[in-house]
Amino acid sequence: MMALTDYLHVHGLRSTPERNALLKAVYTYDGYFKPETLSFDMLEKHGFRVCRATVYNNLGLFEEAGLVQRVWLNGETGYRRSWTNRYSIHMICTGCGSVVECSDDKVRAQIEDMRKKRFVMTGYSLSIQGLCGKCSAALKRKRKKMEKLYSEKNGKGKN
Ligand SMILES: [Zn+2]
Repeated sequence: MMALTDYLHVHGLRSTPERNALLKAVYTYDGYFKPETLSFDMLEKHGFRVCRATVYNNLGLFEEAGLVQRVWLNGETGYRRSWTNRYSIHMICTGCGSVVECSDDKVRAQIEDMRKKRFVMTGYSLSIQGLCGKCSAALKRKRKKMEKLYSEKNGKGKN
């Protein structure tokens, strides 16, 4: 495992104690996290008081450097550290943030067979966004409830 300072250096980022601590904190999350959560945990768990702007600023830099990935979670921005697996296809639930590895060999073969002009592929990271079984079932229930409410309301109006 590369030292964090080397890691930052390799990715073209200057290392500062604050930035090191932020990256370290980012790597303690297994799944997705919100910038607010990171802000909070920095003080509560890591003893660093970091202002919001610094958190957002660094997450932006980490994203550009490929250290984190940004995703839309329930209408809010979420992040997660980049996959350690260089060849990864993941299905991400935008409802709850759960991640499942996709094991479709056809997709993998297709990417590996793809013709790449003047480009040597060293890895890929594909994320498929959608809703997991739990969340899509919850959404269906919510829709049904809404439809029922709507038809009851309309029914009353007509009778
Ligand atoms: Zn879900």
